[in-house]
Amino acid sequence: MRYNVYSDYLRQRYGEKVYKLPISIPVTCPNRDGACGTAGCVFCGEIGAGYENLPESMTVRDQIEANIAHIAPKYKARKYIAYFQNFSNTYLPLGRLKTYLDEASQPDIVGIALATRPDCINDSYLELLAEFRERTKIDISIELGLQSVQYHSLIKVNRGHTLGEYIDAVLRIKRYSIDICTHLILNLPWDDMIDTVENAKVMSALSVDQVKLHALYIVKNTAMADWYQQGQLTLISKEEYVERVVAFLEHLKSDIVVQRLIGRAPEANTLFSNWQTGWWKIRDDIERTLEERDTWQGKKCNYLNGPAVQKFL
Ligand code: SF4
Repeated sequence: MRYNVYSDYLRQRYGEKVYKLPISIPVTCPNRDGACGTAGCVFCGEIGAGYENLPESMTVRDQIEANIAHIAPKYKARKYIAYFQNFSNTYLPLGRLKTYLDEASQPDIVGIALATRPDCINDSYLELLAEFRERTKIDISIELGLQSVQYHSLIKVNRGHTLGEYIDAVLRIKRYSIDICTHLILNLPWDDMIDTVENAKVMSALSVDQVKLHALYIVKNTAMADWYQQGQLTLISKEEYVERVVAFLEHLKSDIVVQRLIGRAPEANTLFSNWQTGWWKIRDDIERTLEERDTWQGKKCNYLNGPAVQKFL
């Protein structure tokens, strides 16, 4: 492949195909409960990212069992990553986080991925995660929502944190050798191609382990939906999205794993979702474009390690 595909990485690391199981726990987000805001990010709907999840009222153990019962016979699956997906999964007391982690520690679980915000990471939580990994031998990764390195865009998105908190979280997590996946939206209405390339350069400079790319989808009854309906937003075309992902990959360090080139997006309850086409068709367009142009991840990653003085070496 012309980019570092997540499923290949998992197969190499664990010796076979590994499946992610979405888990919901009763948490919220500091950008909703008033700690740093009440309105949330302008694109975030009532159910956050959990439109594919089982209800949070089920125990973690029951959610894992139900998901495995569904997936295992269908794909002959044997290894899984429990993915605490919805809202900010480190925004809760340490004791409760430990309980949920312990519940997820089951024989076929090889990894736990925790989605959270950069301002919900600190040393106490990282020590707990490192201790859990040591005790259970289950890998831990943290999926950080950032969406853009363009800090003016982060204000427009109403993230409630800036690029600074993200950089602090990445450097802090790295001290515990915990893997980091950063989520980015490559078509925020305030971002252009320069921001896209800068996204790739910052991910590379910080040496994050993985990235997950999304295209913006507009959920009804959000601030973003109001702006969209009032004609205040201009969204780029599908073709321009493909161009941005290709440029992003070209500038991304070749060893960073790419979890996704575009997210699965819900159609129900949305005003705009992946240009009203299947996510896999857009993924195929991106892969075909890489092929046709004979380009690949890292081809233009020539900006690290003092490029101006390399001629003197
Ligand atoms: S940080 Fe995540 S859960 Fe919180 S408001 Fe933003 S998108 Fe929603």
